[in-house]
Amino acid sequence: GKKEEIDINALADEYLRLSYHGLRAKDKSFNALMETHFDPDLGRVAVVPQDLGRVFLNLFNNAFYAVSEKKKQQGSSYEPKVTVTTRRVRMANGGQAVEISISDNGLGIPGNILDKIYQPFFTTKPTGQGTGLGLSMSYDIITNGHRGEMKVSTAEGAYTNFIITIPE
Ligand code: ADP
Ligand code: MG
Repeated sequence: GKKEEIDINALADEYLRLSYHGLRAKDKSFNALMETHFDPDLGRVAVVPQDLGRVFLNLFNNAFYAVSEKKKQQGSSYEPKVTVTTRRVRMANGGQAVEISISDNGLGIPGNILDKIYQPFFTTKPTGQGTGLGLSMSYDIITNGHRGEMKVSTAEGAYTNFIITIPE
């Protein structure tokens, strides 16, 4: 794909809603809070829109899956929430970058599988629910396709937070 100067906030918002409605189509009883903190001064950023869209869709699908599974375990006392935050940051080399943070208060990732999540075909989902290709593809798109970075912090049973940085 070809790079285009686009509004990252609008793209993230579009895919957040797409992912949420996709999950709701399969499970009408599912509800989650969606919180967005979009930096209004982000400006336009040169990205491959289709590729970044795929990254968003996968990360949001993973996040909604993690909160919906936790809801099945915990019931009504638990409030599923997915939060998306964008901001402009300065990198160590002095350049500008855009940071996109996607977090959920779902299942979290156990420490003993954390080093495997970016491997192609690694999945903990039941057959038919996941290909295990989402994160390996996303990592490739961000690092090789956009010379950016992708990092995760997580606590089992509590939360997962992916942070993407794309240099301008
Ligand atoms: P898939 O979604 O098909 O399983 P991914 O590459 O997207 O494949 O993710 C790999 C694995 O990483 C998932 O099966 C899951 O174990 C873990 N994972 C990814 N995102 C999350 C998340 N937000 N919360 C909990 N676990 C996650
Ligand atoms: Mg996935």
